Amino acid sequence: MSDVELFLVLIAALFIYESVVTLPKDALALRRGAFGWRYVEPLVLRAGAGPAVVLAMLVPPLGLVVSGRRGGRLARAEAAVRVQALVRATRSLRVAASVLWLGLVAGAGWLAFGSAEHETLALVSLGALWVLAVLAGLEARRRLVAAGSLVRTVAPPSWRDTIVALLSPISILRLHDLYTKRALEDLDVLAIAAAVLPVERVRPLLREALARAVHGVETVRERAELEALAVELGIAPGELLAAPEREGAHAHAYCPVCLAQYMGEGEGAQSVCESCGGVALLRF
Ligand SMILES: [Zn+2]
Repeated sequence: MSDVELFLVLIAALFIYESVVTLPKDALALRRGAFGWRYVEPLVLRAGAGPAVVLAMLVPPLGLVVSGRRGGRLARAEAAVRVQALVRATRSLRVAASVLWLGLVAGAGWLAFGSAEHETLALVSLGALWVLAVLAGLEARRRLVAAGSLVRTVAPPSWRDTIVALLSPISILRLHDLYTKRALEDLDVLAIAAAVLPVERVRPLLREALARAVHGVETVRERAELEALAVELGIAPGELLAAPEREGAHAHAYCPVCLAQYMGEGEGAQSVCESCGGVALLRF
């Protein structure tokens, strides 16, 4: 492998490293893509253990990852205001980061296959794009601080986070994700999900949280606050706790938390769901 190839492999590895978000085992992640927000299923190495891993969108303007613990504040309206403020404040940073990203990809191609003649020109152009991204990063921070004085709930990003990210042209591509993560970390991700996802996509998350609260399985939430959120979204709480559709005459019971269905009846039949920490099965 030549020096240039090794350098390019290192840059690509660094970029992927920057794009990986680790979450505690009880956190959830949402990713903003070209077609709006989505809940992302994190990659867990071992069930029930952390940290879980989520890959951000590789193209920076599309990637806006938020993550949250289950158990933060369940304030949907506040989450909506904060997400809006974040999306607005980081717009120029995301544009500048995308241009820098394209410049890095083009620059890498240039170094690998282009002529040495224009190397200096390519490096100077990349430097200029980097400076633009730094300026956009500082501007995004200024806007977030300003938003914080208007919307008291938007936490201003720290200088330490900002400076560390600005020092590397690769880290700067993820600065907006970092700002978002920090600014929302005290909220329950359910509140964020309820603020940005369509109701149909929030429903399964809310259903599981409510089932956990009702059956006392590894829960940090009160049944009443989850039911209040459901009502706020126009969902009847009773509907969320309804039995799943029976998968056939052999299905006799189901787990109210993960909705797995169990066959078999009488002696020796399973009465608890092991994967949900021993929650009692309910009969159809
Ligand atoms: Zn279960």
